[in-house]
Amino acid sequence: MELWFTEKQTEAFGITGKVKRTLHNEKTAFQQLNMIETEQFGNMLLLDGMVMTTERDEFVYHEMLVHVPLFTHPNPQKVLVVGGGDGGTIREVLQHPTVTKVVQVEIDGKVVEYSKQHLPHISSAYGNPRAELIIGDGFMHILNSSDEYDIILVDSTEPVGPAASLFTKGFYAGISKALKKDGIFVAQTDNPWFKGDLIRSAVQDTKEIFPIARLYTCNIPTYPSGMWTFTLGSKTYDPLEVEASRFFELNTKYYTPELHHASFVLPRFVKDLCK
Ligand code: SAM
Repeated sequence: MELWFTEKQTEAFGITGKVKRTLHNEKTAFQQLNMIETEQFGNMLLLDGMVMTTERDEFVYHEMLVHVPLFTHPNPQKVLVVGGGDGGTIREVLQHPTVTKVVQVEIDGKVVEYSKQHLPHISSAYGNPRAELIIGDGFMHILNSSDEYDIILVDSTEPVGPAASLFTKGFYAGISKALKKDGIFVAQTDNPWFKGDLIRSAVQDTKEIFPIARLYTCNIPTYPSGMWTFTLGSKTYDPLEVEASRFFELNTKYYTPELHHASFVLPRFVKDLCK
């Protein structure tokens, strides 16, 4: 008997994948947590039925969320990650030798626990002496921070449930306050095929708060539509003005200096969301 899982990405469309084994199911204090082993993408973390990360394609999202802002900033030392319970984002941040500390605020400790157990490569940076994990609400952490971070990365779930507050204009204003005077923030802002309105408002809010506001994309096969976006806000440094000398060799499978620039070239229907 074959077992398949389906993520309904909209009320009328979804993706389905063949399941080898169910590894863990739990209703945590914040969300439904499922960890499954799939034929095509290896172990997969789902929260409230939505694919969060898989062993096979996680590198795309984590490399693009991290290396675009961290190569844009000339000397990123203190980084904040909101969410990111699987650990992939802090793993990529710690590839940058200038980073002295990465603080991660993840609301659900169970995501960390089961990612350590079933996603060993993705969660491999937990325990690094430069990494500090706080189990708490990223929204509250931002409100209580001021002039503290060079980079803030919002690696949250969709704007529902515990992450609903992480896509508001007030949150982006709070991010600006928590950043140093030349800080940069990037938030994952879902896909342009099904979530155009979310992207439009995230970019608009960012434009009103930061002098530099840009959208960039990447290709993630297990995420809704396969096309994913990141919204970047910067107080000083423009991601499109990074000299070639700034880039150094990194252990990446997706990010390259050429792609750093190319990822900001948008299809017209996506560009129209940023007007
Ligand atoms: N890459 C995924 C995506 O783009 O949807 C996100 C992965 S990561 C697992 C998302 C994390 O955000 C989850 O572990 C979730 O618990 C966390 N999260 C949601 N709301 C949060 C909040 N208010 N504060 C901190 N973490 C939050």
